[in-house]
Amino acid sequence: MSVLLLNASYEPLTIVSWKRAMTLVLTGRAELVEQDGDRVVRSAGGAEFPFPQVVRLIQMISFAGMRSNESPRFSKKGLSARDNRECQVSGCDDHGSTVDHVTPRSRGGDTSWENCVLMCLEHNGVKGDRSLEQLGWALKQTPVAPTSSIVMLTARPEWDAWLLPA
Ligand SMILES: [Zn+2]
Repeated sequence: MSVLLLNASYEPLTIVSWKRAMTLVLTGRAELVEQDGDRVVRSAGGAEFPFPQVVRLIQMISFAGMRSNESPRFSKKGLSARDNRECQVSGCDDHGSTVDHVTPRSRGGDTSWENCVLMCLEHNGVKGDRSLEQLGWALKQTPVAPTSSIVMLTARPEWDAWLLPA
């Protein structure tokens, strides 16, 4: 289960595992902001702790040279979020269950935000190693790298309040 880590300024920093979040809280480096429902973690000694959903660092950290809108690393989970889990071929409403390389790998296309889109099984099967131009297909939108907050936003709906402007 993942936990949203906020900076001391309450700005979202990143996503950490619940174990990492618990370690930060128990060592006094972070405080619990939101509990995950009424779930608790039980220590070996029998003590109960609230299961974290959002934690906040006590001390402000800043990353030299890191822009807050830096693109996250490419991942299939992030791609699903960006493409709304839908096949990206124009006019198709099917579930985007596969990753398609717009410029096929056999022609030097890389695995990147700009060259990958979700496609349904059928469209991906038909496309194979051909280009969109050859098939006369259009995409619903030009593939671009998402911002970190888009990927975080879709990770857990409970985090929306921390990621969306009021
Ligand atoms: Zn499709």
